[in-house]
Amino acid sequence: MAEITTHDLLILGSGLAGLRAALSASIASSGKIDIGLVSKVQLMRSHSVAAEGGTAAMLRPEEGDSFDLHAWDTVKGSDFLADQDVVHRFVRAAPGEIMQLEHWGIPWSRRPDGRIDQRAFGGHGYPRATFAADKTGFFEMQCLFDTLTRYQNTTRYDEWYVTSILVEDNQFRGLTAFDLATGEFHVMLAKALIIATGGAGRMSGFTTYSHAVTGDGIAMAYRAGVAVKDLEFIQFHPTGLIPTGILMTEACRGEGGYLRNADGNRFMERYAAGLMELAPRDIVSRSMITEIKEGRGFKGQNGLDYVHLDLRHLGADKINERLGFIRELAMKFVDVDPVHEPIPVRPVFHYTMGGIGTDIDGKTNVEGMWAAGEAACVSLHGANRLGTNSTAECLVWGKITGEEAAKFVAGFEGEPKHPDGAVARSRSELFDGLLGRDGGESVYKIRADLRRNVDENLGVYRIEEELQKGVEKMAELKDRYKKITIRDRSKAYNIDLMYALELGCMLDLAEVAFIGALRRQESRGGHARLDYTARDDENWLKHTVAHWTPDGPELSYSDVTIDTWKPVERKY
Ligand SMILES: Cc1cc2nc3c(=O)[nH]c(=O)nc-3n(C[C@H](O)[C@H](O)[C@H](O)COP(=O)(O)OP(=O)(O)OC[C@H]3O[C@@H](n4cnc5c(N)ncnc54)[C@H](O)[C@@H]3O)c2cc1C
Repeated sequence: MAEITTHDLLILGSGLAGLRAALSASIASSGKIDIGLVSKVQLMRSHSVAAEGGTAAMLRPEEGDSFDLHAWDTVKGSDFLADQDVVHRFVRAAPGEIMQLEHWGIPWSRRPDGRIDQRAFGGHGYPRATFAADKTGFFEMQCLFDTLTRYQNTTRYDEWYVTSILVEDNQFRGLTAFDLATGEFHVMLAKALIIATGGAGRMSGFTTYSHAVTGDGIAMAYRAGVAVKDLEFIQFHPTGLIPTGILMTEACRGEGGYLRNADGNRFMERYAAGLMELAPRDIVSRSMITEIKEGRGFKGQNGLDYVHLDLRHLGADKINERLGFIRELAMKFVDVDPVHEPIPVRPVFHYTMGGIGTDIDGKTNVEGMWAAGEAACVSLHGANRLGTNSTAECLVWGKITGEEAAKFVAGFEGEPKHPDGAVARSRSELFDGLLGRDGGESVYKIRADLRRNVDENLGVYRIEEELQKGVEKMAELKDRYKKITIRDRSKAYNIDLMYALELGCMLDLAEVAFIGALRRQESRGGHARLDYTARDDENWLKHTVAHWTPDGPELSYSDVTIDTWKPVERKY
């Protein structure tokens, strides 16, 4: 029998969104709520610690910034697919999060006069990226973690891998998990759940994301009957270090760095003469790929042709103070010192705009279940996210969902019910299903093929023929997945088993992304089609919604909330 643990509230994921939600629920309940905080990695290894550049917030109305300007930048950046009521709420809540972290002790970088500093970021009409050197996420995580230790009401389950979300009668009931250290299977019951499992960057082979970012929470929610939204919109960050994909933060350009082609020219002049290197990411990435395709890039190994990110003119002092971590990464990984040499970079799979569909409070269509952070699609980023809006989103919706879930728990009558049928199904899927398969297929080969498929057919530019090929390949890979053999049978740290489960999640999500991208016959934000180059507001100003069925995703479409700005041509 499985061990059963019970809490009021389960938070799945201990990145920025999960930690902020735990603090928020604790504060809202005056420390009374009993929280279980589950993470497949140790708490400070969540991907959020890797965020470098900053967190967006309107802090300086006296110097020309405003809520409306931040909102407009976000809506235009999203190529008009963001829900505008969500955007308005976001921009108004973000400054409070910056000040809250300040009061909890984060070391924000400062101006010489001691006030919080902010820097420029792509697509933002005012320099509103609040930052802590180039380790913003690390300091934010540490600040939240420190503060959470003041509360005694949270039990941590580090290195527990959650395998399914239990839902019965459209009500959230609990999770199933195994403790990686012991291999023991557990059932975790609760009145409410907040999913904060982050994105799905590792479905690509060339990505900025850490190995654990495999979309588990999105896939588990999808399988449990929750609608997922807008998964075809993937963000390519312009500056991934060659050949690893390690991120060279956009702050490099925010601090004044240039992009140069093989002729030494600042080619952004041709594509976005106004904002140049600080145009939004989708536009800069497309410009770089065009330069490379037209022969003005540098030849790299394994098809990873590149251009140069040039910081030399910033000088050693500025680079050391503001971009010290970037200098360290470039020197350690490619032996390039940015003080003296340009850095080789190309667009890299960076962010999933889509995710678990929620309402403006982060609530899903299942009773007692919320989602926050990158795993969620509250529809803030639409078709293209602006840099620094994501960490801010994690904080804002971490707080909102924590409060909402605490309220729900306070009004919950009785104790969480053990869902016998759902537990039995999850158990059998794991032990008889996954571990029982013995067709000889290798998880690692399927994973490599999945990543190749995504990189080759779901890239910066898309076209019907490749998308169709991608969809067919997904069917083949899913078929092969049914025949895998998990060779490792040990209980302690069975990484083979974990990789197999993660692969299953990535296969489900990549399938939805491919089908969504094939159907969407237009170009918008991160979805750029060579065969439908224009944005088509008449037919496609709508969100893609996918529901799980045994035969693959069932797609439908939902309206975009447009309450302030009608779509116009997007020029920078
Ligand atoms: C290199 C890099 C730099 C970035 N820089 C910036 C920036 O400067 N500004 C900005 O705004 N955004 C930035 N981003 C994006 C931003 O950091 C992320 O979107 C955000 O941190 C995601 O936080 P999260 O809390 O949603 O998820 P994560 O931090 O990814 O945490 C996910 C959590 O879920 C847990 N989990 C997942 N699956 C399971 C499972 N099956 N069982 C148990 N636990 C599970 C993980 O263990 C982890 O604790 C950057 C991203 C990267 C990769």
